[in-house]
Amino acid sequence: MTTFAELGLAPDILRALDEMGYATPTPIQEQVIPLALKGGDILGAAQTGTGKTAAFALPLIQRLLPFANSGTSPAKHPIRALILTPTRELAIQVEESVKAYTRHVPLRSLVVYGGVNINTQIPILKTGIEILVATPGRLLDHVQNKTLMLNQVNTLVLDEADRMLDMGFMPDLKRIVALLPTQRVNMMFSATFPEEIRKLADSILNTPTFIEVARNETAVTVTQVMHPVHHERKRQLLAHLIKSRDLRQVLVFTGTKLGCNRLANELNKAGIHADAIHGDKTQQERIKALDAFKAGTMRVLVATDVAARGIDIEALPYVVNYDLPHNAEDYVHRIGRTGRAGALGEAISLVSESETRYLKDIEKLIGSPLEPVIVPGFEPGAADVPAYESRPPRPDRHAERPERLDRPERRERSAPRPRPAPRDALFDAPYEQSSAPSVASAPTLVRQPPKKQVAALFRSPVKPDTAES
Ligand code: AMP
Repeated sequence: MTTFAELGLAPDILRALDEMGYATPTPIQEQVIPLALKGGDILGAAQTGTGKTAAFALPLIQRLLPFANSGTSPAKHPIRALILTPTRELAIQVEESVKAYTRHVPLRSLVVYGGVNINTQIPILKTGIEILVATPGRLLDHVQNKTLMLNQVNTLVLDEADRMLDMGFMPDLKRIVALLPTQRVNMMFSATFPEEIRKLADSILNTPTFIEVARNETAVTVTQVMHPVHHERKRQLLAHLIKSRDLRQVLVFTGTKLGCNRLANELNKAGIHADAIHGDKTQQERIKALDAFKAGTMRVLVATDVAARGIDIEALPYVVNYDLPHNAEDYVHRIGRTGRAGALGEAISLVSESETRYLKDIEKLIGSPLEPVIVPGFEPGAADVPAYESRPPRPDRHAERPERLDRPERRERSAPRPRPAPRDALFDAPYEQSSAPSVASAPTLVRQPPKKQVAALFRSPVKPDTAES
């Protein structure tokens, strides 16, 4: 197994990595670092969670070592490396990583992003910094204000380029690149490569080496589980899972900002401390929510894809797809936030009938089906406790669970299984008509066949999963 030292990194950087507990390089680091140390341009296909930040930051830092100095004059600290990210959260996290990797070398870094008072960033810029992490809009504000100069930049990194494209940053990017010296090293990372990204790469990169870390591979340490459920019962099911399995640090993805707010409110009403982050929240609100979530004082963070982009929380244990993403690659991005760097994680998807088409795309992309686990009391096809006509007897939840040889990693984790919901309502939501049936009452209920034709998944002979006692 390759070591960081074998990749050619300097002792001061190795010391920082050692202190951070990075024992061996990840595949993308192994490939990118030696090439980038030589100063070659790189086009990387890698998503968050693969260790791509260190892959571009470590060689960038090493190549700046000859410029590292403790001088006090700002002129001794011109911006030499520029790292652009689509979101403020990602910018903050990248800069935190850069700070950690440079803890033993006198290189200065700063992050600038919009949504906060620009005047707070100016004094630090004036003191001089070598590594600037920025979102494109705020960087251009500084350029316009003449509060920073980019004429000595020798390294450019574009992180999550496809997201920058999605968020409409392409014109800003082009303006920024035009301000940089032409002699420089370029590294561009993207999870997807639509036509516009390829064109951007052509225009920015100089005969790059293409490095790919299989984008359809989800981390092996992530257990993926899918609960088929009626869409109106998702909130109850989520609260039920969180409470009965005592889940903590749960990152929940919703499709809309409205849904995001609503879900956080309802979880709070159900006694589960939650907050929402999305594009309409102020930067202060987002940072506050993220900090509380990271510190473990807030149990659930509900987020939209854009707001959650790049969120990096050490060993995040649970990611929930409350709404399935419409784009299969977003699924991989989302669940990439758990099970990182060897930590165990679980990705839980709540799937309603109308989402089965997205499910198929996801399964195609990841190359395997997601195991459906029906939570007793939350069977799909039933919005609330229904007027059942016929129902197969519920399995005895105390009976021994059958061997499931197909998912060894799940068994090894021995994560507690979903349990039937308690009788008391999980939400105070006005539309909530009834609580989930208890185990005791269940056998007397009979199932009503779904009124309309349902997708194969919802008809499939999946057995309800029994709760493990
Ligand atoms: P990234 O994909 O850059 O967002 O990194 C994902 C997470 O993995 C971050 O928390 C990093 O600190 C961590 N990480 C990156 N590289 C390594 C490594 N070689 N060993 C251990 N942890 C790492």
